[in-house]
Amino acid sequence: MSKKINQAPRGTRDILPDEQVYFSYIEKIFESVVNSAGFRKLYTPAFEDTNLFVRGVGKGTDVVEKEMYTFNDKSGNSLTLRPEGTAPVVRAYLEDGMQSWPQPVKLYYYMPMYRYERPQAGRYREHWQFGFEMIGDKDPIADVAIISTASRIFKKLGLIDQVNVQLNSIGCQNCRPKYLKELKEYYGLNLKKVCVDCKRRYETNPLRLLDCKEAKCQPLIEEAPQSINFLCDDCHKHFKETLELLDEIGTNYEINPRLVRGFDYYTRTVYEFWTQTDGYALGGGGRYDRLVEILGGKPTPALGFSSGVDRIVEELKKHPEIVINQESAADVFVAQIGEEARKSCLKLLNGLWDQGIRAEGCLDKGSISEQLSMANKLKTKLTLIIGQKEAFDETVIIKEMDSGNQEIYPHEKIIQEVKKKLK
Ligand code: AMP
Repeated sequence: MSKKINQAPRGTRDILPDEQVYFSYIEKIFESVVNSAGFRKLYTPAFEDTNLFVRGVGKGTDVVEKEMYTFNDKSGNSLTLRPEGTAPVVRAYLEDGMQSWPQPVKLYYYMPMYRYERPQAGRYREHWQFGFEMIGDKDPIADVAIISTASRIFKKLGLIDQVNVQLNSIGCQNCRPKYLKELKEYYGLNLKKVCVDCKRRYETNPLRLLDCKEAKCQPLIEEAPQSINFLCDDCHKHFKETLELLDEIGTNYEINPRLVRGFDYYTRTVYEFWTQTDGYALGGGGRYDRLVEILGGKPTPALGFSSGVDRIVEELKKHPEIVINQESAADVFVAQIGEEARKSCLKLLNGLWDQGIRAEGCLDKGSISEQLSMANKLKTKLTLIIGQKEAFDETVIIKEMDSGNQEIYPHEKIIQEVKKKLK
């Protein structure tokens, strides 16, 4: 097989400048919403000790069983490219002494994730997620704060009418075993009817039986026992209060008794944000009250939410009515003609950049009309033109691109005049 050195690996892609506009739009809105809600940013390493995910996410999960990029480094350590953000954030919480910070600790990230999945629309082997986590709060108010903050992000993105919030409670370590026993009994009687993957899930991760997308498994899912009917008193109270508080602040949701999440660490409240049209998950999360303990800390309740940026970009593109704040690549273009003018152009560009003005210039020998059409493409507000005469006179023509007005200014007044016009 020939190695394609001029192609990105399957399931990965370059995110080019036009696409970056969407990525930056999403990041800006995400950051402004979570910053106002008191979350602070962190980055974790792109790879971690493999056991972090095996222990944290869970052995029987699809991610750990089939999707991790795991490799040995030269010292023989088993490392894994980060497939999700929560386990690394909790590892950082423990390692970096955040247990002694005022609780809850509220953190957020915007990072790429790596999963060896079958590439298709909206499913990549490298994809970006934004996420936020609240560690150290057991109250249903925290559940509501996370769900409503996620809703606010979608609202600010202009997508709130395109998503619906699916909500469920999958109980805790006290009530879940009883539910899983019932679920396994039910499936045990019907194992012949399920797909190959569900036969495996039955053994390794029975909760995920409810998550199967195969048509032949749907009738069984419909009739399956539901976790909300098996909640212990504490989990029941927690879920009830969460729903009441959501109603009180007017956050919309739908209870979905079949919603389960892909990772073992989830407890109690779980949620996903689906597209209205095709029920495609744009984001999801939930409580993970045992994860801190599983990773070696003292029992600490926690919860969070994460969302797939690539999928949100695709959703935004389906809605051209949503105005993305498309910034032009530059505000000023400097065009020149002649050897002397080229030197003036370089000096002028440096002066503009020093002042933080976004400027572009053409320093090769393109014709003036080629340069003006480049300025048009960049959608700059102003074009500064230095011809041979201007280079000799030490002047510059300022052309306002919207009105077409042109005026001549001496060199020393240019920066000041450009700033005035850009205001
Ligand atoms: P998860 O924690 O698996 O629910 O992932 C969180 C979000 O990331 C999902 O709701 C998706 O929007 C997105 N996502 C997960 N896997 C992929 C993938 N392979 N490619 C693109 N987006 C993904």
